[in-house]
Amino acid sequence: MQQITFTTLMKTNNTQSLTLEDFISKINDSYDEDDKEGTNCYEYFNLLEKEFKPFFDFDVKLNKKEFKEFNINLYQNKITDKLNRVCNAVNEVWAISEDHRITKIEDKKIWKVSLHFILTNKKTNAKSFYPYIRKVNYLFKQDKIEFDTSVYRKGMGKFRMSQTKKEGDKHSLLKPVTFKDDITKHIIQVVDGLDEFIITKEMNLLVNNNIDKDENIRELVSGYTVVSKKEKNNCTFMDLDKETICPFIGRKHTNNHIFLVQTEDCLMIKCHSDKCSSKVKILFKNMNSDTIDFDLDVFNAFQIKDGSNYPAKRDYFEKYYKYFRDTNTFYRIQMNYNNRYKYYERELVEIQKGGLADLQIDQYTDKFV
Ligand SMILES: [Zn+2]
Repeated sequence: MQQITFTTLMKTNNTQSLTLEDFISKINDSYDEDDKEGTNCYEYFNLLEKEFKPFFDFDVKLNKKEFKEFNINLYQNKITDKLNRVCNAVNEVWAISEDHRITKIEDKKIWKVSLHFILTNKKTNAKSFYPYIRKVNYLFKQDKIEFDTSVYRKGMGKFRMSQTKKEGDKHSLLKPVTFKDDITKHIIQVVDGLDEFIITKEMNLLVNNNIDKDENIRELVSGYTVVSKKEKNNCTFMDLDKETICPFIGRKHTNNHIFLVQTEDCLMIKCHSDKCSSKVKILFKNMNSDTIDFDLDVFNAFQIKDGSNYPAKRDYFEKYYKYFRDTNTFYRIQMNYNNRYKYYERELVEIQKGGLADLQIDQYTDKFV
C-alpha cells in the first residue's frame, strides 16, 4: 500500500506518513465545505526523489473594486485553455481547487484568489518538468495569469492539499472545484499507473516560438536600411546604409558604418569603426527569456547516461551563454585584503564586457565598399 508523506504545521517540517487510504480518510473526515472546516495538511516530500503529477499554483491579488468585478470562472477557463496548450491536455483531466480570502499587505487589504491545477493523468519528475516549466512561464506572463514558480523547489516541497486550510484561517480552505468526490486525483504523490508526461516537439515549439519577440524585432529592423545580410553562429548580421547615424558618435562615419546583430533573444547595434568597436547598443532584449534564471542544479540534473540527454544539456547551457554574451554588464566577487584589519573583504565588482566585440567582425561581414 502506498505511503503518503505529509506535514501539518507551517513552521516545523516534521514529516508524517500514512497509507493512502488512511490519508484520504484523514482529509475527508475533517472536511465540511459549508462550515469551512478542514484539517491543516501539506503533502511533503523530496521532489528530486519522487515522481509527481504536474502541478501549477496561480495566485491573483486584487483590491476591493477589482475583486467585485472579478470573474473566477473566466479566470479559471483562461488558465485551463492555456494549460491545455502547454501540457497537451484537455479540460477534463485537471484537478482544480480554489480559495479566496482577504489578507493584508503593508496594512492594505488585499483580496487573494488562489487556484491549484493538477494534471491527473500524467506523472513527471523535477528533472524533466522544471526546465520546461521555466520556458512556459512567459506565455502566462503575457496574459497576466502568472503561476508561482517558487513551488518548483529542489529538495523538499510542500503542497497544500485540497480540502485543507492554513492553520487558524477559515477562509483559506482550499475547495475542490473538479473531482470533488475523488480526492486521490488531488494528491500529487499518487502516480501509480499514470503515463509519463512527455514534452512533445509541438509543445517545445510552442514555448520557443515567441511571436511578440519576432514582431518587435521585425519592426525595429524595418526602421533601418539594410544593405546586406549574413548568418553566423545563430546570429544574423545586417550591414546598414552608410548614411545611417552612428549612435556612439552621434553622426555618420566617413569610411565605416554601423550594423545590426540579431541573436535569439536580442537585437543590437554595433559599429565597424575602431573607435566604436567595443560599444554595443541593445535595441531589444527579450526579458521573458528563461536564460536569466540559469540554475546550476537543474543543469547538473541532466543525466547523460546513454548520451541521449546531451543535446538537452547543451541547449540549456547555450541559452544562458547567449544571455551573458549579449549583456554588457555583469558582476564578479572580488576578495580584497584589508591590511589594517588583516582579513579579506568581499566586494562585488562590475565587469564591463564589450558584448560581441571579442568576435572578429571581418570574419562574418563583408567590408563595406
Ligand atoms: Zn561608430
